Parts: sequence; C-alpha cells; structure tokens
Amino acid sequence: MNKNLRKAVIAGNWKMNKTRAGARELIEELKPLVAGAGCQVVACVPYTNLETALKAAQASNIKIGAQNCHWAGSGAFTGEISGEMLAEMGAGYVIIGHSERRQYFGETDKTVNQRVRAALDAGLTVILCVGELLEQREQDITGEVCAMQTKIALSGVTKQELSRVIIAYEPVWAIGTGKTATAEQAGQACGFIREVVAKLYDKAAAEGLTIQYGGSMNAANAAELLSQPDVDGGLIGGASLKAADFAAIVKAASV
Ligand code: PEP
Repeated sequence: MNKNLRKAVIAGNWKMNKTRAGARELIEELKPLVAGAGCQVVACVPYTNLETALKAAQASNIKIGAQNCHWAGSGAFTGEISGEMLAEMGAGYVIIGHSERRQYFGETDKTVNQRVRAALDAGLTVILCVGELLEQREQDITGEVCAMQTKIALSGVTKQELSRVIIAYEPVWAIGTGKTATAEQAGQACGFIREVVAKLYDKAAAEGLTIQYGGSMNAANAAELLSQPDVDGGLIGGASLKAADFAAIVKAASV
C-alpha cells in the first residue's frame, strides 16, 4: 500500500462545544498556525457555528464540516438537518456514524448507511466513523466489527463516490478517555479496513482511500500514530479545541 497516493486529512470534531464567539476566536487563532499545511485541515463544528466558522475560514486552507446529517432531503424530522441544507451553507464535510451518535442517539449501521448516502447525494465529503467497543477488542472481534460497520455503511456507494469518503477508525474505548490505541493497533486496524475496502471495490480504490485514526490523538502522540503506513490522518476531538494542540497535530501530518 502506498501512502503517497493519499492526502492526509486532519479533522477536528468540536462536538457540542463553542458558542459563535468562541468558534470565531478558535478559527482566527488557528488560521495562521495551519497556513501552508501539507495536509487537509477540517473543522467539524456544531450546526449553529457553521455560518460563523465558514466566514472566519474564508480565504484560508481550513475547510468546514458538520457532525451529522439526516437521510431525508426534507420532511417531518423535528430537530434534524439535511445534507442539502449543509451543502447550501457551504459546508464541505460531514461526520457520519460517530460512536457518540451510535451510543447516545440510537444510530445503527442501517441509519449510518442511509445518512452516508444522503450526504454523498448532497455533494458532501463524508467522514465515516467505525470502531469497536472495549469488550469487542477483548473478545478479539475488532476486525469483524470494523468490517461489518464498513460494509453496511458503504452499501450502495459507488467506486466514484468513494473518492468523497474518508473512513475514521475510532476505537470507542479510546474516544475522550485519554487512552490511545498503540500505533501498531491503529495501523493494524486501518490496514484491515483498507483490505475490506479493496475486497468491496478494488485495490486502486482502497489505495486511494484516506483512513484516519481517532481516539485521544494529541500533540504528543500524533507523530507516532501518523507514521503508520495505513494511518492517513486523524479525527481529533478534545485536542481540536485548543489551537496550538490542533496545529501541532496538523504539523505532524504535514511531513
Ligand atoms: C472524536 O470525537 O472523534 C475523538 C476522537 O475524540 P477525542 O480525540 O477527544 O478522543
């Protein structure tokens, strides 16, 4: 597998953090720190911050995304936001299937697939999250879990559309816990997911696919995780809320 074929993507997942004033401040602080980065820089912000973040990021190399979108284009789905609405605002990216959505909001592999389809139809680039629970790793079924989540989520996605999909391997036990997967564990799982994609599509499609690691990645451990041949970037939660920490991860991905 050839890492040079793929663009590294460092994406921040702000989760439910930052008011509009805070979002503007963080993007403004980040802009000079990541200018000229050798990787794609993305900030996935709360819906209410999209307009502010898009405006603040104008004429910079920071792309803005959301953290979810609904599978329908419109309709009686109180509280939901469609892919079309995000695209119309100017968002380019959307996280789908984050473990917090699966854990707290009843997201299933089927609804993840439906949301992936809707986001692609709206022209967005999808950051698709997959990953195992701690007990699943202990039962030695990490591969099976990641394969199942990946296969179901990508059902109906064409090879051409795959160029607008990034997969984030996020072991659930490492998200927001301070427990990071070892570089070997991260590299192995990302490599395994790439093999699953190669079987679903073909080798060229799999080699071109950006696969991120996510789970307590920070300024101190990023370089080691990103040195793995199959780890093409990171989905960053906590550390994306501090400009200096996030910029250090971007720097580690830019070598
Ligand atoms: C995430 O929210 O996707 C994430 C990886 O969070 P953290 O970096 O805080 O573990």
